[in-house]
Amino acid sequence: MDKSGRMQFNRIKLLGEGGFARVYEVKDPRGSRLACKVVTKLSLKTKKAKTKLYAEIKIHRSLQHPNIVQFQDCFEDEENVYMTLELCTSGSLMDMLRRRRRFTEPEARFFMVQLIGACHYMHAHQVIHRDLKLGNLFLDANMNIKVGDFGLAALIENPGERKKTICGTPNYIAPEVLFDTANGHSFEVDTWSIGVILYTLVIGRPPFQTKDVKAIYKRIRDNEYEFPTDRIISSAVQHLISSILTPDPSQRPTLHDIVDHAFFTQGPVPAYIPTSANTIPPDYT
Ligand code: ADP
Repeated sequence: MDKSGRMQFNRIKLLGEGGFARVYEVKDPRGSRLACKVVTKLSLKTKKAKTKLYAEIKIHRSLQHPNIVQFQDCFEDEENVYMTLELCTSGSLMDMLRRRRRFTEPEARFFMVQLIGACHYMHAHQVIHRDLKLGNLFLDANMNIKVGDFGLAALIENPGERKKTICGTPNYIAPEVLFDTANGHSFEVDTWSIGVILYTLVIGRPPFQTKDVKAIYKRIRDNEYEFPTDRIISSAVQHLISSILTPDPSQRPTLHDIVDHAFFTQGPVPAYIPTSANTIPPDYT
């Protein structure tokens, strides 16, 4: 992987594959480890695919925040487009949830504070992520959240502008994206996903999960989800989740309201998550 007259990268290993891209761990000439997202030009035959990739690059490279995967550089050769990104060595929160089954409420507070901080920054920069989910929340070596994958992100160029494209991941999609296509959607779709993420962290599975996508959409439309009764889930977290999962986007709490909620203000927020938490729950008692 090289570009005439430019830096050479050594490919270390494949980290993962997404819809369009393969992501490798690479080493730059100085020996720094990076992630490199590779998109073959064969997959960019249509104008639509090109526009999408350029939008992703334009949006991602404009963002700089401690909890957002840092975009480094972008270049191409005859075959591929390459994006070098900050390397997240501890996988995604999805991988971690599979090992742990669910998280303690203090851990959920830690991850949520970082996620909400990143989301607030994006919204302040007119960016809606539109695909916030555990699989797109990566972890660095110190177990800090790094929001990644801006493939569905949208830039709001005019105040009050509404987006109309139906996109997202079934379990995390806000009702207005599916059912208010006339009005469109805006920043509040990320807030909804944050509510789904919080539920998933503390309960261990997404709130509207069922066998098929149609049934998931029906449950989202009917706001049909429950809290398990066989174990203790604080009333604070239940109250916060319910208020975020409000069908009317204009009635949803703001990101400020969320971090001011009793769930955050009346319980411990750990200063860091130990790497042992990858497999066993940390003891915060
Ligand atoms: P797509 O947009 O095609 O879905 P993603 O950006 O989600 O691609 O990346 C696909 C996979 O590559 C991820 O699920 C993850 O395993 C890995 N990956 C992506 N970015 C990084 C990164 N910065 N550090 C480490 N692994 C990454």
